[in-house]
Amino acid sequence: MRTKKRILVIYTGGTIGMVNTAQGYAPRKEAFHTLLDSLPELHADAMPLWDIVDMEPLLDSSNITVVEWNRIGALIAEHHAAYDGFVILHGTDTMAYTASALSFMLRNNNKPVILTGSQIPLCEIRNDARDNIVTALLIAACDDVHEVCLYFGGRLLRGNRTIKYSADDLIAFESPNYPALAEAGISIRYNRAALLPPCQGSFSIQPMQNTPIGVIKVFPGIQFELFDSIMTERLRGIVIETFGAGNIPGHANALLPIIRRASDNGTIIVVCSQCPHGTVLLGAYETSSALKDAGAVSGYDITTEAAVAKLYYLFSRGLSGDSIRSRMERNLRGEITV
Ligand code: ASP
Repeated sequence: MRTKKRILVIYTGGTIGMVNTAQGYAPRKEAFHTLLDSLPELHADAMPLWDIVDMEPLLDSSNITVVEWNRIGALIAEHHAAYDGFVILHGTDTMAYTASALSFMLRNNNKPVILTGSQIPLCEIRNDARDNIVTALLIAACDDVHEVCLYFGGRLLRGNRTIKYSADDLIAFESPNYPALAEAGISIRYNRAALLPPCQGSFSIQPMQNTPIGVIKVFPGIQFELFDSIMTERLRGIVIETFGAGNIPGHANALLPIIRRASDNGTIIVVCSQCPHGTVLLGAYETSSALKDAGAVSGYDITTEAAVAKLYYLFSRGLSGDSIRSRMERNLRGEITV
């Protein structure tokens, strides 16, 4: 008889485990554990064996920072040898950021790390929590998955390709530039061609450092001079969400000298698109060539969430500015199509 897989569930907070309190929904560890114990399907023969650890304090994911990323990473590292896979129960609001961060922090990770949560708490009669937990556990026991993923609403997505797309639909996440890794219909159908192959080398973890990083979304009429000192003196990494394929308003040429000065000061500037689908092509239009000349790098089709996490990761490794720039334009964990 095949031995059962062992999965570690890491409960960080979020709607999935919240209960109704006088102040509204709030996470309650004991009540959530009681609910989990009462679900016979979680203890059925067909399920892997699982244990649960709770993070302290349980958080609404809007409050997640690099401190919590490091705690989750440390828990995975501590238990990496003892478990076959991991399920991270997390609030939906910042799940795409945490999934992206973990994908970079866990180096040479060959085990499934599946983030999930829900739009409706498990305590409610109508909820999406039950299926998300059950299916995430089954996927975490799958031999073909060797990466950090997000399971939600019937689809398994590469974690660092996801964005939270809907505030109220039960299919809340999208992966606009990469296909789903699996669809959970009558059976769980894996898209094996889309999954990452196992990596060589031994597993290690890169803790994240809290680096000053900013995201600037351009809009018609933006007064770049207002951002001058923050861009040139305060931030070490900036993700610019540009129009379309990487275009910025050229009026008064205000942005380029700022970018040039920021770049000369060692700030890494990554150009992303406001369009969820498609890629940045620096140089395709006159309005974007100048960005490249001023020292910005292309994020290609990376999500803003993954770009932020990748910047944190590369700065945390203590790399030189040139190494960070070149790695931002390289695919490290399946996060960009170059
Ligand atoms: N605010 C909640 C959180 O992100 C929303 C959710 O879990 O769906 O923790």
